[in-house]
Amino acid sequence: MTMKSPVSETCGICGCRLHRRGRYAEPSVRGRSHATKHHYVAERFFGRSANRRGEVREPVFRKCPWGFEGEAGVYCYDCHELLLHNPVLLPRDFERLRRLVVSRGLAERTKTRNLAKLAGRIRLFHEVIEAGLETLTRRPMSKSPSDTRLQRAARSFQRR
Ligand SMILES: [Zn+2]
Repeated sequence: MTMKSPVSETCGICGCRLHRRGRYAEPSVRGRSHATKHHYVAERFFGRSANRRGEVREPVFRKCPWGFEGEAGVYCYDCHELLLHNPVLLPRDFERLRRLVVSRGLAERTKTRNLAKLAGRIRLFHEVIEAGLETLTRRPMSKSPSDTRLQRAARSFQRR
């Protein structure tokens, strides 16, 4: 039997040191830094349920669109249960999302047994998150040498 080193495990989002002792989710610093596994793509999308083991539902995805079925990361209670499971969307955000859903043909006035539009909305929502991350992680100014020369030229021109 191998034991995991207790010092090496950290949360994949906030970076806090994780532990697997004591009770998960208890209202304390220890409860909040307890390790927990989060599937990148929810098991329920493939028809499986962690809460109702053995119960199989109609899968939203037969095959994972991103190639991450069954794969998971390790996070702290705070990041997993509070941050990841409760994304904040304000009325304006919902309105923009709704407009995107309509424009992509993913709205459905009457539900049918077909889950293709739901699958499309899940993919769209991931696209929204990806676009936001792309925008926020982009460098504010290009560091290429030509830009630096341009910036220097612009500054010298302004001094004249
Ligand atoms: Zn965390």
